[in-house]
Amino acid sequence: MLDCAIVGGGPAGLTAGLYTTRGGLGNVIMYEKGLPGGQITQSSEIENYPGVTGEITGMDLMQPWPEQCMKFGLKHEMVEVLQVSKDGDVFKIKRGDGKVDEARSVIVCTGSVPKRAGFKGEDEFFGRGVSTCATCDGFFYKDKEVAVIGGGDTALEESLYLAKICSKVYLIHRRDKYRAAPNTIKRVENTPNIERIYNSIPDEVYGDNMGVNGIKIRNRETGEITDIKVPGVFVFVGNNVNNEVLKQDDGTFLCELNEQGQVKVNLRMETSLEGLFAAGDIREDAPKQVVCAAGDGAAAALSAISYVDEKFQD
Ligand SMILES: Cc1cc2nc3c(=O)[nH]c(=O)nc-3n(C[C@H](O)[C@H](O)[C@H](O)COP(=O)(O)OP(=O)(O)OC[C@H]3O[C@@H](n4cnc5c(N)ncnc54)[C@H](O)[C@@H]3O)c2cc1C
Repeated sequence: MLDCAIVGGGPAGLTAGLYTTRGGLGNVIMYEKGLPGGQITQSSEIENYPGVTGEITGMDLMQPWPEQCMKFGLKHEMVEVLQVSKDGDVFKIKRGDGKVDEARSVIVCTGSVPKRAGFKGEDEFFGRGVSTCATCDGFFYKDKEVAVIGGGDTALEESLYLAKICSKVYLIHRRDKYRAAPNTIKRVENTPNIERIYNSIPDEVYGDNMGVNGIKIRNRETGEITDIKVPGVFVFVGNNVNNEVLKQDDGTFLCELNEQGQVKVNLRMETSLEGLFAAGDIREDAPKQVVCAAGDGAAAALSAISYVDEKFQD
């Protein structure tokens, strides 16, 4: 029987692995379907992880994390987890290789994936001018013009954030009205360096081997194409939360989720189900930053240690 099963090996899962093992849990497995490191390994440059200076890729940042955890006894299984369920006080971990493991506690750290809008050049220039994170990449466009795609709360809030750093933000929305909080809309309308472009969709992002040079957008009513010369394009059209492992055979979820499918947690990263914790991008209101995911992983691990110690001590 495992003391703790950690599902996902990104910054949250790896930090949970470090803290659970170093904090005294003897039998902990971290399940990761790919290489450990998580989504940040796709990033060509990270500048906002505290204490890490100089040019560093996401891959470089994450490279030492697994070794540090393994030193304290964390086991890593390179396998996909299909489902986590609970029978009495025991969690069942259904694995992609057909095996089922049992655990006293579970920390779910499966992350999330920003949705792509699906225009030409989006994938080709992703990480080289096309981004889904203003906090991560906005600074690279300091005093430059950028385009934002989207019309929901996230697109508007991120536009306001970018407007403070960039000289101008073109906010491109497919409809004639935003789907956001009225107060956020008002703030966008009152920000002089945000140009609002309605009823328009991206046709193509173009550039060269140095990165993006511009975006062509099409007016949905007139069909007119406008070419906007910007080095950065931010896409905020939603987020897919990797919560499938929590889905039960009857279609319900193992714990409470919010409307966006994010796991509801308290400040101890406890979910609505005893012994089940969630950390990182999968949880409600996650800031979606490496440092925050790592912090969540540590908090969840400390809570899991307390839970296992109190519940299962002989
Ligand atoms: C291109 C890009 C650039 C970014 N830049 C920055 C930046 O500059 N600064 C910053 O702070 N943040 C940045 N981020 C955001 C940051 O990467 C995330 O906030 C962070 O990685 C979240 O960590 P996590 O552990 O919660 O989830 P993730 O990193 O998503 O890790 C989840 C892990 O779980 C695994 N997994 C999922 N489902 C299963 C399953 N069923 N079984 C087994 N394994 C599973 C996945 O393979 C993945 O490795 C960037 C993200 C991207 C995509």
